[in-house]
Amino acid sequence: MRLTGPRQRLVFRGQRIQSAEFGWSNHTLDRPATAAAVACDVVAQPLFRAPVGTRDLLPPESGRRRRLVCLFADLAERAGFGLLESPIFEDHGVFQRLGEANEVVTKELFEFFDKGDPPRRLALRPELTAGVCRAFAEHRPTPPWKVWYSGPQFRYERPQAGRYRQFEQVGVETLGTDDAHADIEIIALGLRFYETLGLKRVRLLLNSLGDADSRPRYDAALTSYLQSRRDDLSEQSRLTLERNPLRVLDSKREQDQPVIAQAPVMADFLSGDSAEHFATVREGLDSLGVGYEVSPRLVRGLDYYTRTTFEYAADALDTAQNAVGGGGRYDGLVEELGGPPTPGVGFALGVDRILLACDAEDAFAAPPVPVRVFVVDTAGGRSASLLCDRLRRAGLGVDRAFDNRSMKAQMKRADRCGAEVAVIVGPDERAAGAATVRDMRSGGGQRQVPETEVAEAVTEILARAPR
Ligand code: AMP
Repeated sequence: MRLTGPRQRLVFRGQRIQSAEFGWSNHTLDRPATAAAVACDVVAQPLFRAPVGTRDLLPPESGRRRRLVCLFADLAERAGFGLLESPIFEDHGVFQRLGEANEVVTKELFEFFDKGDPPRRLALRPELTAGVCRAFAEHRPTPPWKVWYSGPQFRYERPQAGRYRQFEQVGVETLGTDDAHADIEIIALGLRFYETLGLKRVRLLLNSLGDADSRPRYDAALTSYLQSRRDDLSEQSRLTLERNPLRVLDSKREQDQPVIAQAPVMADFLSGDSAEHFATVREGLDSLGVGYEVSPRLVRGLDYYTRTTFEYAADALDTAQNAVGGGGRYDGLVEELGGPPTPGVGFALGVDRILLACDAEDAFAAPPVPVRVFVVDTAGGRSASLLCDRLRRAGLGVDRAFDNRSMKAQMKRADRCGAEVAVIVGPDERAAGAATVRDMRSGGGQRQVPETEVAEAVTEILARAPR
């Protein structure tokens, strides 16, 4: 069958249909179609799609996500964290300093040169801790500096469920103190956030990666152990071993698990200071009633962590991508970025995965649409403009139809958007400078009121059964 619409290529069940512009489509409809249904079931193929690994977030999902960020903002601000807004791209060097041997830096950065003369080498941020430390080094705020953030991050990863090239994080960082109680505050805050969303199956995994005293001894012991088991490791982990032995512990590959299970653990190498710090963190969490599992081989994706490291794992998700957040201490990072010696601790939570965990646990539904009133105007649309404006200025959530649709079609829209009150203007009401206000809930009545009294009448109906 040949179709005429130039920007549409169409396929029906069991039938491939040609369009002169695009050739053959791979789409199929999932049910047989009558000629009339076929006309409606046009599958329009767009000229462009969102880039691989990115997604459009449409309502109501986008509203749910925004609500999540608002809840996080509220929680963080009530704990004394102020909002930091930093650029989405930074000097490439900011991220390079995160570790030359790290995949996030070597393989996953979205890099580009700007149009300057000479051009500057920039990168889209793959995470926000480095940007926060760069901002601290630049502005030198009075410590302790407690900030929260939210926004998109970019990593050129292999996309799959729960792993995207553009994803969103919310996070907090406390800079300028190495007090273990700052770690406790942050770790507990993350868990309280999951609770706020209604998530019940999030586990806290905890470890200490030691400090400048303990780390070299551990790195040496780990490297020598991994070298001795080199032949048992997967090919990928053998490569990782050359560049960054600690990261081998992060492998999820089946073949590596027996080797990892017998690897030396950091706990046996902690310096006195680090051991004491870790004990204080654990005691603090115990006293808050925060449950955790010490996970002695937990390492994180980025290399700057020292002492406390932690991850939040959502058991409702597939184990491959079940980390819904993580963080730790990074006592050397500000200095690495040219600032004064400044300890820091923080976390970043992955919004996309948190929402997947919410879906899996049936938690945190999309917030209700705030439209409670629908203006139906079958007299040309001008009255609807006037009434919408008036009602919105009175603080009400109001929507309307366009294109002078029939009464039936407009009432259907009112119903579909969940309106509790319809304000109806037909030619008679318009001539009388009035509107009919109808309670859409079952058993609700209707009455005609002058246009100037519509807001009052609507408010009165809504007050009878507040949402
Ligand atoms: P990280 O900055 O690697 O510690 O990641 C913190 C959190 O961000 C993780 O626990 C994930 O929930 C989330 N995350 C990291 N990378 C991605 C990604 N590519 N796609 C979706 N979420 C991600």
